Amino acid sequence: MRGRIPEDTLAEVRARASIVEVVGAHVGLRRVGRNHVGLCPFHAEKTPSFTVSEERAIFHCFGCGVGGNVFTFLMRMENLPFPEAVERLAQRYGVALPERGETDPTQGLREAMFRLNEKTARFYQRVLWDAGEAAPARAYLEERGVGRASAERFLLGYAPAAGDVLVRRLRGASLPLEVAVRLGLIGARQGNGHYDRFRARLMFPITDASGRVVGFGSRSVPGTASATGDLPKYLNSPETPLYRKGAHLYALAAARDAIRTAGRALVVEGYFDVLGLAEAGIGNVVASLGTALTLEQLRLLRRFTRDIVVFFDGDPAGEKAAEKSLETFLEAGLWGHGAFLPRGDDPDTFVRRAGREAALALLGAATSLLDFYLERAVRPGSTIAERAAVAQTVAPLLGKIADPFEYNMAVRRAAERLAVSEDLLRCRPAGRRESVPVHQAPAVRAPGAEELLVTLMLRDPAAAARVEAAGGLALFAEEAWRTLAADVIESVRSGGGVDVAGLLSRLDDAAAARIAGRLLATTGGGAETSTLVDECLAKLRRQADVRRREVLRREIRQHEAHGDHPAVERALRELDALRQEEGGRRDEPAPVAAPAHEEARSTVPEATELDPADPESDELEIGDWT
Ligand SMILES: [Zn+2]
Repeated sequence: MRGRIPEDTLAEVRARASIVEVVGAHVGLRRVGRNHVGLCPFHAEKTPSFTVSEERAIFHCFGCGVGGNVFTFLMRMENLPFPEAVERLAQRYGVALPERGETDPTQGLREAMFRLNEKTARFYQRVLWDAGEAAPARAYLEERGVGRASAERFLLGYAPAAGDVLVRRLRGASLPLEVAVRLGLIGARQGNGHYDRFRARLMFPITDASGRVVGFGSRSVPGTASATGDLPKYLNSPETPLYRKGAHLYALAAARDAIRTAGRALVVEGYFDVLGLAEAGIGNVVASLGTALTLEQLRLLRRFTRDIVVFFDGDPAGEKAAEKSLETFLEAGLWGHGAFLPRGDDPDTFVRRAGREAALALLGAATSLLDFYLERAVRPGSTIAERAAVAQTVAPLLGKIADPFEYNMAVRRAAERLAVSEDLLRCRPAGRRESVPVHQAPAVRAPGAEELLVTLMLRDPAAAARVEAAGGLALFAEEAWRTLAADVIESVRSGGGVDVAGLLSRLDDAAAARIAGRLLATTGGGAETSTLVDECLAKLRRQADVRRREVLRREIRQHEAHGDHPAVERALRELDALRQEEGGRRDEPAPVAAPAHEEARSTVPEATELDPADPESDELEIGDWT
């Protein structure tokens, strides 16, 4: 698939895209030295180990091991196939892509779905503001205090009542009806024809985090056909390839900047809660789309902030909901706070009745969900036995906290609140070990000499020059590493600088992530690098010798079988020469003598010495590099 977009186009996109900007849209980044760091969006962590280098156009997480270039990031972050990640960035940074003729058909379908959703949203939006029949919807918005600016910001629309307006519209524009069926926008009648699935309804487009329409929510409008009979008040898109219940958050794309600025996200249930708070100038709000917050939604939101406050109704049902949500929060590695509304209010009615300041005060009084849980569980004056019983139910909840530091904090806090011993809370449930880590850190493996050498060359032009001077290219056994090394040497020689991100994109994801990690981890150069280069070269030379010896032994056996004695003789002599050469090299460990080398050698710890007794070993034992 990668072959379909020309390499120079990819290079241009990489060159124009700012990786810090692209990553920064998803991860709060802070500059540290030459790099940027932040909390990894791919695993739960408290201290930032996610590192981005603008200079090298790569990223790496030292916690879970993911890494790569700007395309890799977008693919992972937004779950996109490669061509789509390229397309997205090309569009954003103004790089023209060649017409796609023969792309992956499923990819084409996905794109077509997004386009159709987008067109439908725009169509409904025009109907809402321009059509006479949408007057009740406009009146309803006004009644609920939603101004046109807010309504437009959230792309609100109106689906006409007639029942085939969208169908005719799609047909007229030669848009594929079967795609619209799959998106749940229209239905197919048995026998023949299609019908609009949303009729006489206020439409709420649901987008992904980057603002692309994945589906629709809708609400019946008083005074129209949708408010009659037993038609549902709320009707959403069915599950489609773009939309899954519990996977999206309403208004996230519109709220993300405000969430970053505020450092906090507010979670409500309905569309009008989002709109009502927005009207009051509170923009860092998303809605859970009618369901209780799911783990997936929390993970999505966690990319933007860890401080999340949920509005709960101030009645027993709301308190129960708050209690239940604690588990999901803990599982997501978050504390979670709850703001409790006065009885009978939802965020929309509350902010319209009591005003912005009152809403902010309510948020200011938000309580930690764990404290809330414990307070409800332990009534004043409860006996030790009662509190111990509560501890038994709390312990498995706390066991959901993956981070050991946070786990200990939570246990201490809970023990204090319950006035019981921490031991009572520390019995983590069995099987926890398997269920907790979402992304386990990859097994740390020392790199092979070829990989290490290429990494050194990518890091330091002097290393590339040193490999070239020593004739190191000929020692590579693996074609992929050799061409990569050759390209690095070539770009160093041409003086144009090494396109690290571009070269990495030719490796498989795991190798690219490893190398990106090493490049970002070590500030290299100087004497130590030349020592490492020499050690790698020596290692490769030994491996090449081993391979050559094997070939010779095989040849000798074959020549013997054929009775070709002169050939046996020649092969034996070469084998002998090889052994002598090798023995000689062992006495002088530096294969490439350089003036700085002898001094440098003493700075390398004992552990980095290659073991000459084990020339077959494939791994380099160099602590720095693991
Ligand atoms: Zn990570």
